[in-house]
Amino acid sequence: MNKKIRNVAIIAHVDHGKTTLVDKILHQCKLFGEHEKPGELIMDSNDLERERGITILSKNVSVSYNDIKINIIDTPGHSDFGGEVERVLNMADGVLLLVDAFEGTMPQTRFVLQKALEIGLKPVVVINKVDKPNCRPLEVQEEVFELMFNLDGSDEQLDFPTFYGSAKEGWMSDDVTKRTNDITSLLDGIIKYIPEPKVEEGPTQMRITSLDYSSYVGRIAIGKVFRGTLKANQQVAVIRKDKSVVKQVIKELFVYDGFQRKNVDEAESGELVAIVGLENFEIGETIAHIDHPDQLDPIAVDEPTMSMLFTINNSPFYGKEGKYVTSRHIKERLEKELEKNLALQVHDTDSADKFNVYGRGILHLSVLIENMRREGYELQVGQPQVLYKMIGAQKSEPFEELTIDVPDEYSGTVIEMVSQRKGEMKNMIRKGDRINVEFEVPSRGLIGLNNQVLTATAGEAIMNHRFIEYRPTVGPIKERQNGSLIAMESGTAIAYALHKLQDRGKFFVAPGENVYAGQVIGQNTREGDLVLNVTKTKKLTNMRASGSDDKVLLAPPIEFSLEDALEYIEKDEYVEITPKRIRLRKILLD
Ligand code: GDP
Repeated sequence: MNKKIRNVAIIAHVDHGKTTLVDKILHQCKLFGEHEKPGELIMDSNDLERERGITILSKNVSVSYNDIKINIIDTPGHSDFGGEVERVLNMADGVLLLVDAFEGTMPQTRFVLQKALEIGLKPVVVINKVDKPNCRPLEVQEEVFELMFNLDGSDEQLDFPTFYGSAKEGWMSDDVTKRTNDITSLLDGIIKYIPEPKVEEGPTQMRITSLDYSSYVGRIAIGKVFRGTLKANQQVAVIRKDKSVVKQVIKELFVYDGFQRKNVDEAESGELVAIVGLENFEIGETIAHIDHPDQLDPIAVDEPTMSMLFTINNSPFYGKEGKYVTSRHIKERLEKELEKNLALQVHDTDSADKFNVYGRGILHLSVLIENMRREGYELQVGQPQVLYKMIGAQKSEPFEELTIDVPDEYSGTVIEMVSQRKGEMKNMIRKGDRINVEFEVPSRGLIGLNNQVLTATAGEAIMNHRFIEYRPTVGPIKERQNGSLIAMESGTAIAYALHKLQDRGKFFVAPGENVYAGQVIGQNTREGDLVLNVTKTKKLTNMRASGSDDKVLLAPPIEFSLEDALEYIEKDEYVEITPKRIRLRKILLD
């Protein structure tokens, strides 16, 4: 056993306080140097990730407590990144499940927890935000118990330690009736309950579990040393999935230290490392001693299931505001993305200006699109398409497991909606006054579903989906009626849709210079739909309207009369709107 190390993956629903807790752990372990502003949250640093409330790529941090090193492994919060979740969990020896003492367990957390239990990781539960007036820590603890029971079935893992506290106030206790002054009890708990990593003696062996990219050093291989010791300057064998072997040299070796990486000469079995200098490698391959090229079981990277056409936005209606306006720019940017975005593929098309980009799902692709737009790429994208495959003589399409969590009153509507899209209901669980419905649905049926469901449930539904497998294709899905209202998620472009509306003489929209030009992405917007997009950074200005018997949706979808919406826009209040449902509702409905 490597008694000096604990590798713990942290699982939390967005907003339940993961960043705050990790921040407090770093503080308590005194890892902030003079130059670091206290209170600056470092774990999910990407603006887009924060705004959309997801963690895209995992980042690890490490602290030292009582001479024991705790590596904290972040897990992505969305199922489009499911493959990534499974891989990073492979580096952990236990998990920290963080749950909000008011909201309780959420469907998104469930998927990650299930994976963790499947591979036998021991959970330590943290019930956070017990400082909040309406919190219900004991009920939530009971909920977690039930969830684990449902997921696992065996009694073995049901005996899990639980800590209660407030990451915000900086304390954790193992007794719900007792407040403490710091998070020592949780740190002690991690040391006590998370098993030490196994130490395997023998020739070096490590599986490449994750990768990172830096324009200075190129690709960085990340993983846990499985057997023996790994050394800087060591010549190693990189074993491909097809068992072929390439000899390479480890130029530099790093371990995690605070939120940075520290250069080291060697790392022992059980430690998490980042390797610089390997030129040719892929996720899932094995790094081994040069004389003992023993392969570890390769791990699969998820196949893409959706595609979208990317092209330069050359709409004559809008000036070119972006920094990058040529096809070559887009091509280069996409190539760079491929270095680290594993499930992504880029295919050329007949036209030199168009690229067919394949990804894991709509969210996976939207995140890339939004990032590129923020970086200044004048990008236009087409409707998402699912990728069909011939399996034997049969045309197959991707299917997903879909979970929708809604207040009871809406469950009928939601079930009806998903059935229309060829979804089949598999399970239904009541949770207080909410219902959790599970379906299996063709990925095709998910396109535009989120907005439709949110509209129908006054923004109350929480949807989560993950790819199951390719299955023989089912018949066509009936198109929905024209003229419905659609809301786009923050950051997606609207000018195209607004322009359409203007054409119909219904609304007059004069895009001011701050209007975010581009095309509506990812949704089956049609003539007659009114789409408004509101982001923190881009303002819609000079908007005038007539024909005001229509309603307007602000993104994310909360229904308003047109007048109300315009008033918000005029008063600039929309500036605060983020896709985080709770905050949004707070700002708009309070
Ligand atoms: P993440 O999305 O899981 O990383 O969550 P954050 O750490 O960003 O926290 C989300 C929000 O919850 C922030 O506004 C935090 O200040 C707040 N928060 C985090 N922990 C606590 C807590 O223990 N009590 C209260 N009242 N708020 C908290």
